[in-house]
Amino acid sequence: MNQVGFIGLGKMGFPMAVQLLKANYPVFGMDLNQQTMKQFQMLGGVPSTFEEIIHSTQYIILMLPSSRTVNTIIDSLLDIYQSGNLKSKPTIIDMSSSYPEDTRQNEQKLKALGLGFLDAPVSGGIKKAAEGTLTIMTGGKDSLFRECKPLLEAMGSKLFHVGPIGSGHLIKAVNNYLSAAHLLTTCETIHLLENYGVKPETAINVFNNSTGRSGSTEYKFPSFILNNSYQSGFSLELMSKDVKMASRLYEDMGAATAFPQAVCQKLEEAQHALPENADHTELFTYIATYLLTGRNSDEECKETDNRFTAFCTNAQPRSL
Ligand code: NAD
Repeated sequence: MNQVGFIGLGKMGFPMAVQLLKANYPVFGMDLNQQTMKQFQMLGGVPSTFEEIIHSTQYIILMLPSSRTVNTIIDSLLDIYQSGNLKSKPTIIDMSSSYPEDTRQNEQKLKALGLGFLDAPVSGGIKKAAEGTLTIMTGGKDSLFRECKPLLEAMGSKLFHVGPIGSGHLIKAVNNYLSAAHLLTTCETIHLLENYGVKPETAINVFNNSTGRSGSTEYKFPSFILNNSYQSGFSLELMSKDVKMASRLYEDMGAATAFPQAVCQKLEEAQHALPENADHTELFTYIATYLLTGRNSDEECKETDNRFTAFCTNAQPRSL
Protein backbone atom coordinates (compact mmCIF):
# COMPACT_ATOMS: atom_id res chain seq x y z
CA MET A 1 0.00 0.00 0.00
CA ASN A 2 1.37 3.47 -0.89
CA GLN A 3 2.25 5.69 2.04
CA VAL A 4 0.35 8.97 2.12
CA GLY A 5 1.32 12.32 3.65
CA PHE A 6 -1.55 14.51 4.87
CA ILE A 7 -0.92 18.18 5.74
CA GLY A 8 -3.83 20.08 7.34
CA LEU A 9 -5.91 17.90 9.65
CA GLY A 10 -8.68 20.42 10.33
CA LYS A 11 -12.45 20.07 10.21
CA MET A 12 -12.25 18.49 6.75
CA GLY A 13 -8.71 17.10 6.63
CA PHE A 14 -9.09 15.04 9.81
CA PRO A 15 -12.11 12.96 8.70
CA MET A 16 -10.61 12.60 5.20
CA ALA A 17 -7.35 11.25 6.66
CA VAL A 18 -9.38 8.87 8.83
CA GLN A 19 -11.04 7.49 5.67
CA LEU A 20 -7.57 6.79 4.24
CA LEU A 21 -6.61 4.96 7.45
CA LYS A 22 -9.83 2.94 7.22
CA ALA A 23 -8.84 1.98 3.65
CA ASN A 24 -5.52 0.71 5.11
CA TYR A 25 -3.26 3.46 3.76
CA PRO A 26 -0.41 4.30 6.15
CA VAL A 27 -0.97 8.04 6.73
CA PHE A 28 1.79 10.44 7.83
CA GLY A 29 -0.02 13.52 9.12
CA MET A 30 0.93 17.05 10.04
CA ASP A 31 -1.00 19.93 11.58
CA LEU A 32 -0.15 22.97 13.71
CA ASN A 33 -2.70 21.86 16.29
CA GLN A 34 -1.06 19.42 18.72
CA GLN A 35 -4.39 18.23 20.17
CA THR A 36 -5.44 17.16 16.67
CA MET A 37 -2.14 15.35 16.20
CA LYS A 38 -2.75 13.33 19.39
CA GLN A 39 -6.23 12.29 18.21
CA PHE A 40 -4.80 11.40 14.80
CA GLN A 41 -2.17 9.16 16.42
CA MET A 42 -4.81 7.45 18.58
CA LEU A 43 -6.64 6.46 15.37
CA GLY A 44 -3.52 4.91 13.82
CA GLY A 45 -1.99 7.89 11.99
CA VAL A 46 1.71 8.75 12.16
CA PRO A 47 2.41 12.31 13.41
CA SER A 48 5.19 13.59 11.15
CA THR A 49 7.35 16.56 10.17
CA PHE A 50 7.65 17.93 6.61
CA GLU A 51 10.99 16.10 6.29
CA GLU A 52 9.46 12.77 7.33
CA ILE A 53 6.56 13.26 4.96
CA ILE A 54 8.71 14.10 1.94
CA HIS A 55 11.10 11.22 2.70
CA SER A 56 8.48 8.55 3.42
CA THR A 57 5.44 9.08 1.19
CA GLN A 58 4.44 8.63 -2.46
CA TYR A 59 1.44 10.98 -2.31
CA ILE A 60 1.14 14.19 -0.28
CA ILE A 61 -2.34 15.61 0.26
CA LEU A 62 -2.82 19.25 1.28
CA MET A 63 -6.06 20.32 3.02
CA LEU A 64 -5.22 23.86 4.13
CA PRO A 65 -7.23 27.02 4.77
CA SER A 66 -5.93 29.25 1.95
CA SER A 67 -3.90 29.46 -1.23
CA ARG A 68 -1.30 31.49 0.65
CA THR A 69 -0.74 28.64 3.14
CA VAL A 70 -0.66 26.09 0.31
CA ASN A 71 1.96 28.14 -1.58
CA THR A 72 4.16 28.44 1.54
CA ILE A 73 3.93 24.72 2.26
CA ILE A 74 4.72 23.76 -1.35
CA ASP A 75 7.79 26.05 -1.27
CA SER A 76 8.93 24.43 2.04
CA LEU A 77 8.40 20.92 0.62
CA LEU A 78 10.38 21.86 -2.49
CA ASP A 79 13.27 23.25 -0.42
CA ILE A 80 13.44 20.05 1.62
CA TYR A 81 13.11 17.92 -1.50
CA GLN A 82 15.97 19.69 -3.27
CA SER A 83 18.32 19.71 -0.27
CA GLY A 84 17.58 16.01 0.46
CA ASN A 85 18.74 14.89 -3.01
CA LEU A 86 15.87 12.37 -3.08
CA LYS A 87 15.30 9.81 -5.81
CA SER A 88 11.59 9.18 -5.12
CA LYS A 89 9.19 11.65 -6.64
CA PRO A 90 6.04 12.13 -4.56
CA THR A 91 2.90 13.48 -6.22
CA ILE A 92 1.24 16.40 -4.48
CA ILE A 93 -2.56 16.69 -4.42
CA ASP A 94 -4.01 20.01 -3.29
CA MET A 95 -7.52 19.25 -2.01
CA SER A 96 -7.91 22.68 -0.36
CA SER A 97 -10.03 25.35 -2.08
CA SER A 98 -7.19 27.34 -3.63
CA TYR A 99 -6.87 30.11 -6.22
CA PRO A 100 -6.54 28.55 -9.72
CA GLU A 101 -3.78 30.93 -10.88
CA ASP A 102 -1.65 30.00 -7.85
CA THR A 103 -2.33 26.34 -8.63
CA ARG A 104 -1.01 26.71 -12.17
CA GLN A 105 2.14 28.43 -10.83
CA ASN A 106 2.65 25.70 -8.23
CA GLU A 107 2.44 23.08 -10.97
CA GLN A 108 5.24 24.82 -12.90
CA LYS A 109 7.50 24.83 -9.81
CA LEU A 110 6.82 21.15 -9.10
CA LYS A 111 7.16 20.14 -12.76
CA ALA A 112 10.65 21.70 -12.87
CA LEU A 113 11.71 19.02 -10.35
CA GLY A 114 9.72 16.26 -12.02
CA LEU A 115 7.02 16.11 -9.33
CA GLY A 116 3.38 15.47 -10.26
CA PHE A 117 0.59 17.76 -9.13
CA LEU A 118 -3.21 17.59 -9.10
CA ASP A 119 -5.81 20.01 -7.77
CA ALA A 120 -8.68 18.03 -6.27
CA PRO A 121 -10.94 20.24 -4.13
CA VAL A 122 -14.03 18.78 -2.53
CA SER A 123 -17.68 19.49 -1.85
CA GLY A 124 -19.96 17.92 0.74
CA GLY A 125 -18.81 19.35 4.07
CA ILE A 126 -17.73 17.49 7.19
CA LYS A 127 -20.68 15.06 7.04
CA LYS A 128 -19.64 13.66 3.66
CA ALA A 129 -15.96 13.83 4.62
CA ALA A 130 -16.76 11.59 7.62
CA GLU A 131 -18.73 9.18 5.39
CA GLY A 132 -16.08 9.11 2.64
CA THR A 133 -18.72 10.30 0.16
CA LEU A 134 -17.31 13.67 -0.91
CA THR A 135 -17.61 15.05 -4.43
CA ILE A 136 -14.06 15.52 -5.75
CA MET A 137 -13.39 17.73 -8.79
CA THR A 138 -9.91 17.10 -10.14
CA GLY A 139 -7.73 19.15 -12.47
CA GLY A 140 -4.48 17.90 -14.00
CA LYS A 141 -3.10 15.23 -16.30
CA ASP A 142 -5.53 12.41 -17.06
CA SER A 143 -2.84 9.74 -16.47
CA LEU A 144 -2.08 11.16 -13.02
CA PHE A 145 -5.79 11.36 -12.19
CA ARG A 146 -6.20 7.69 -13.10
CA GLU A 147 -3.17 6.78 -10.99
CA CYS A 148 -4.54 8.66 -7.96
CA LYS A 149 -8.15 7.47 -8.39
CA PRO A 150 -8.01 4.64 -5.81
CA LEU A 151 -6.65 7.09 -3.23
CA LEU A 152 -9.34 9.67 -4.02
CA GLU A 153 -12.02 6.97 -3.94
CA ALA A 154 -11.20 6.30 -0.30
CA MET A 155 -12.41 9.86 0.46
CA GLY A 156 -15.08 10.51 -2.15
CA SER A 157 -17.84 8.67 -3.98
CA LYS A 158 -18.35 11.16 -6.83
CA LEU A 159 -15.11 11.76 -8.69
CA PHE A 160 -14.83 14.10 -11.67
CA HIS A 161 -11.83 14.85 -13.85
CA VAL A 162 -12.74 18.36 -14.94
CA GLY A 163 -9.80 19.48 -17.10
CA PRO A 164 -6.18 20.69 -16.97
CA ILE A 165 -4.42 21.81 -13.81
CA GLY A 166 -6.36 24.52 -11.94
CA SER A 167 -9.76 23.45 -13.36
CA GLY A 168 -10.77 21.75 -10.12
CA HIS A 169 -10.07 24.91 -8.15
CA LEU A 170 -11.82 26.99 -10.78
CA ILE A 171 -15.04 24.98 -10.62
CA LYS A 172 -14.88 24.77 -6.80
CA ALA A 173 -14.67 28.59 -6.47
CA VAL A 174 -17.67 29.17 -8.70
CA ASN A 175 -19.60 26.30 -7.10
CA ASN A 176 -19.24 28.05 -3.76
CA TYR A 177 -20.23 31.38 -5.31
CA LEU A 178 -23.45 29.72 -6.51
CA SER A 179 -23.94 28.10 -3.12
CA ALA A 180 -23.40 31.44 -1.30
CA ALA A 181 -25.78 33.23 -3.68
CA HIS A 182 -28.47 30.59 -3.01
CA LEU A 183 -27.93 30.86 0.73
CA LEU A 184 -27.98 34.65 0.72
CA THR A 185 -31.13 34.98 -1.39
CA THR A 186 -32.89 32.23 0.57
CA CYS A 187 -32.05 33.88 3.91
CA GLU A 188 -33.42 37.21 2.70
CA THR A 189 -36.52 35.50 1.32
CA ILE A 190 -37.25 33.57 4.52
CA HIS A 191 -37.01 36.78 6.58
CA LEU A 192 -39.29 38.54 4.09
CA LEU A 193 -41.89 35.77 4.24
CA GLU A 194 -41.72 35.54 8.02
CA ASN A 195 -42.41 39.25 8.09
CA TYR A 196 -45.65 38.57 6.24
CA GLY A 197 -46.58 35.76 8.63
CA VAL A 198 -45.33 32.71 6.70
CA LYS A 199 -43.47 30.22 8.90
CA PRO A 200 -39.86 29.47 7.76
CA GLU A 201 -40.53 25.69 7.93
CA THR A 202 -43.57 26.09 5.65
CA ALA A 203 -41.67 28.22 3.15
CA ILE A 204 -38.72 25.80 3.03
CA ASN A 205 -41.11 22.89 2.52
CA VAL A 206 -42.76 24.68 -0.42
CA PHE A 207 -39.41 25.62 -2.01
CA ASN A 208 -38.21 22.04 -1.69
CA ASN A 209 -41.19 21.01 -3.78
CA SER A 210 -40.81 23.89 -6.24
CA THR A 211 -38.25 25.45 -8.54
CA GLY A 212 -36.72 27.64 -5.80
CA ARG A 213 -35.05 24.67 -4.17
CA SER A 214 -31.26 24.43 -3.73
CA GLY A 215 -28.64 22.88 -1.46
CA SER A 216 -29.52 25.65 1.00
CA THR A 217 -33.23 24.81 1.13
CA GLU A 218 -32.77 21.03 1.01
CA TYR A 219 -29.88 20.69 3.44
CA LYS A 220 -28.57 23.84 5.15
CA PHE A 221 -31.89 25.29 6.34
CA PRO A 222 -33.29 22.05 7.84
CA SER A 223 -29.95 20.93 9.29
CA PHE A 224 -28.37 24.12 10.64
CA ILE A 225 -30.67 27.17 10.42
CA LEU A 226 -34.27 26.21 11.28
CA ASN A 227 -33.00 24.47 14.43
CA ASN A 228 -30.74 27.45 15.31
CA SER A 229 -27.65 25.23 15.61
CA TYR A 230 -25.51 27.06 13.02
CA GLN A 231 -22.91 24.29 13.14
CA SER A 232 -22.26 23.18 9.57
CA GLY A 233 -18.49 23.10 10.17
CA PHE A 234 -17.82 25.46 7.24
CA SER A 235 -16.79 28.87 8.50
CA LEU A 236 -18.05 32.16 7.08
CA GLU A 237 -14.40 33.15 6.64
CA LEU A 238 -13.72 30.19 4.31
CA MET A 239 -16.90 30.74 2.32
CA SER A 240 -16.07 34.41 1.98
CA LYS A 241 -12.59 33.45 0.71
CA ASP A 242 -14.12 31.24 -1.99
CA VAL A 243 -16.58 33.90 -3.15
CA LYS A 244 -13.78 36.48 -3.24
CA MET A 245 -11.85 34.10 -5.53
CA ALA A 246 -14.87 33.65 -7.80
CA SER A 247 -15.46 37.40 -7.91
CA ARG A 248 -11.80 37.94 -8.88
CA LEU A 249 -12.14 35.38 -11.66
CA TYR A 250 -15.05 37.34 -13.16
CA GLU A 251 -13.13 40.61 -12.78
CA ASP A 252 -10.00 39.15 -14.41
CA MET A 253 -12.16 38.20 -17.39
CA GLY A 254 -13.56 41.74 -17.56
CA ALA A 255 -17.07 40.28 -17.14
CA ALA A 256 -19.89 42.83 -17.10
CA THR A 257 -21.80 41.47 -14.12
CA ALA A 258 -22.56 42.84 -10.67
CA PHE A 259 -23.73 39.62 -8.98
CA PRO A 260 -20.39 38.11 -7.81
CA GLN A 261 -19.29 41.40 -6.27
CA ALA A 262 -22.64 41.93 -4.58
CA VAL A 263 -22.52 38.45 -2.97
CA CYS A 264 -18.89 38.97 -2.03
CA GLN A 265 -19.65 42.31 -0.38
CA LYS A 266 -22.54 40.91 1.67
CA LEU A 267 -20.35 38.08 2.98
CA GLU A 268 -17.60 40.54 3.91
CA GLU A 269 -20.11 42.74 5.75
CA ALA A 270 -21.38 39.69 7.63
CA GLN A 271 -17.81 38.70 8.49
CA HIS A 272 -17.21 42.12 10.08
CA ALA A 273 -20.47 42.01 12.01
CA LEU A 274 -20.33 38.41 13.30
CA PRO A 275 -17.80 36.79 15.70
CA GLU A 276 -14.47 35.69 14.20
CA ASN A 277 -15.25 31.96 14.03
CA ALA A 278 -18.84 32.33 12.84
CA ASP A 279 -20.29 29.47 10.81
CA HIS A 280 -21.35 30.47 7.28
CA THR A 281 -24.98 29.58 8.09
CA GLU A 282 -25.00 32.44 10.65
CA LEU A 283 -25.46 34.65 7.61
CA PHE A 284 -29.16 34.13 8.39
CA THR A 285 -28.89 36.02 11.69
CA TYR A 286 -26.81 38.80 10.13
CA ILE A 287 -29.31 39.33 7.32
CA ALA A 288 -32.09 39.98 9.83
CA THR A 289 -30.11 42.96 11.16
CA TYR A 290 -30.22 44.88 7.89
CA LEU A 291 -33.25 43.47 6.08
CA LEU A 292 -35.75 44.36 8.77
CA THR A 293 -34.35 47.71 9.88
CA GLY A 294 -37.21 49.57 8.17
CA ARG A 295 -39.78 47.59 10.17
CA ASN A 296 -38.71 48.14 13.72
CA SER A 297 -41.66 50.03 15.12
CA ASP A 298 -45.20 48.69 15.56
CA GLU A 299 -46.42 51.64 13.51
CA GLU A 300 -44.29 50.64 10.53
CA CYS A 301 -45.27 46.97 10.85
CA LYS A 302 -48.96 47.90 10.82
CA GLU A 303 -48.44 50.15 7.83
CA THR A 304 -46.76 47.37 5.79
CA ASP A 305 -49.43 44.87 6.83
CA ASN A 306 -52.15 47.30 5.69
CA ARG A 307 -50.37 47.81 2.37
CA PHE A 308 -50.08 44.04 1.94
CA THR A 309 -53.78 43.48 2.77
CA ALA A 310 -54.77 46.24 0.34
CA PHE A 311 -52.58 44.71 -2.36
CA CYS A 312 -54.19 41.28 -1.87
CA THR A 313 -57.72 42.72 -1.84
CA ASN A 314 -57.24 44.83 -4.96
CA ALA A 315 -55.30 42.30 -6.96
CA GLN A 316 -57.16 41.34 -10.14
CA PRO A 317 -56.52 38.11 -12.00
CA ARG A 318 -54.62 38.94 -15.18
CA SER A 319 -55.87 37.59 -18.47
CA LEU A 320 -53.25 35.56 -20.31
P1 NAD B 1 -9.82 24.22 9.12
O1 NAD B 1 -9.41 25.60 9.46
O2 NAD B 1 -10.70 23.47 10.04
O3 NAD B 1 -8.51 23.32 8.89
C1 NAD B 1 -7.30 23.79 8.38
C2 NAD B 1 -6.20 23.07 9.14
O4 NAD B 1 -4.95 23.44 8.58
C3 NAD B 1 -6.16 23.46 10.63
O5 NAD B 1 -6.22 22.30 11.43
C4 NAD B 1 -4.81 24.18 10.77
O6 NAD B 1 -4.20 23.96 12.02
C5 NAD B 1 -4.02 23.56 9.65
N1 NAD B 1 -2.92 24.41 9.20
C6 NAD B 1 -2.96 25.75 8.91
N2 NAD B 1 -1.73 26.17 8.55
C7 NAD B 1 -0.91 25.09 8.61
C8 NAD B 1 0.48 24.88 8.39
N3 NAD B 1 1.26 25.88 8.02
N4 NAD B 1 0.98 23.64 8.56
C9 NAD B 1 0.19 22.60 8.95
N5 NAD B 1 -1.14 22.74 9.20
C10 NAD B 1 -1.67 23.96 9.04
O7 NAD B 1 -10.45 24.31 7.66
P2 NAD B 1 -11.39 23.23 6.94
O8 NAD B 1 -12.80 23.62 7.16
O9 NAD B 1 -10.93 21.88 7.25
O10 NAD B 1 -11.07 23.58 5.40
C11 NAD B 1 -9.86 23.17 4.79
C12 NAD B 1 -9.96 23.48 3.31
O11 NAD B 1 -11.08 22.78 2.75
C13 NAD B 1 -10.19 24.95 3.00
O12 NAD B 1 -9.48 25.30 1.83
C14 NAD B 1 -11.70 25.05 2.79
O13 NAD B 1 -12.06 26.14 1.97
C15 NAD B 1 -11.98 23.70 2.14
N6 NAD B 1 -13.34 23.15 2.35
C16 NAD B 1 -13.96 23.19 3.58
C17 NAD B 1 -15.23 22.63 3.73
C18 NAD B 1 -15.97 22.63 5.06
O14 NAD B 1 -17.15 22.27 5.10
N7 NAD B 1 -15.33 22.97 6.17
C19 NAD B 1 -15.87 22.03 2.63
C20 NAD B 1 -15.20 21.98 1.40
C21 NAD B 1 -13.94 22.54 1.27
